[in-house]
Amino acid sequence: MLLKDKVALVTGGARGIGRAIALAFAQEGADIAIGDVNLELAQKTAAEIEGLGRKALALKFDVTNFSDTEAALNKILDKFTKVDILVNNAGITKDGLMLRMSQQDWDAVLSVNLGGTFNCIKAVSRPMIKQRSGKIISIASIIGIIGNPGQANYSASKAGIIALTKTAAKELSSRNINVNAVAPGFIQTEMTDKLPEEIKNKMKEAIPLGRFGKPEDVAAVCVFLASVESAYITGQTIVVDGGMVMA
Ligand code: NAP
Repeated sequence: MLLKDKVALVTGGARGIGRAIALAFAQEGADIAIGDVNLELAQKTAAEIEGLGRKALALKFDVTNFSDTEAALNKILDKFTKVDILVNNAGITKDGLMLRMSQQDWDAVLSVNLGGTFNCIKAVSRPMIKQRSGKIISIASIIGIIGNPGQANYSASKAGIIALTKTAAKELSSRNINVNAVAPGFIQTEMTDKLPEEIKNKMKEAIPLGRFGKPEDVAAVCVFLASVESAYITGQTIVVDGGMVMA
């Protein structure tokens, strides 16, 4: 088992990619805290984790609020006494062409995706620095690398996560804390299910591996980044996109 007795916080872990990451970590022996705005669904995922024989804690908190995030972290420390892994997965989209994008939609996406990632990294840094170890993984997106019409807010937030990852990696490296990002391509979840069929078909044609990704494809890379196997990797963004974007 790659994560035996580790403790992980997965934000937005109630469903989609976050849920797959939480379950994959539990299968590798980790105990999991699910932080989500949707408590009912977070509890359902927590029950699935317990079904795998691991401890789980469902917490309702909004990553945009730093004091809520800190309070949630204290509950994790109370229950598990430590936090080894943070996965910043909570994210939203509010798409629209820039000319028509409201200030509200710009602010909301930057606040959850980038602000929430900053808040969670800041909150877990203290206990991780104290214990002199930690793994921080943030879910970015290939859109943060290549851009996408209609996603000015989302692309900027994900590019911000990639830059924040590099800075956090540099600030925390002396305390044995690895900070990396994962940039998925098109992954089949409720977030992408709402796209029109025509756009989905066009996107599939641009994927060399010829299929959309599964949440489990992203989770497998997160397991690696959370494990000792990635001890010498920090500040990196690993693209998981079936070959859509090649450096
Ligand atoms: P999803 O199915 O919409 O799940 C996101 C989860 O985050 C939901 O449970 C959501 O709660 C929660 N959440 C939203 N705002 C939050 C907040 N302020 N605080 C705490 N939790 C919050 O999305 P997904 O497709 O699994 O995506 C997960 C991550 O991967 C996101 O960061 C996304 O940008 C990234 N990503 C996804 C794809 C893809 O193709 N799916 C590609 C690249 C990157 P609600 O129930 O309230 O919505």
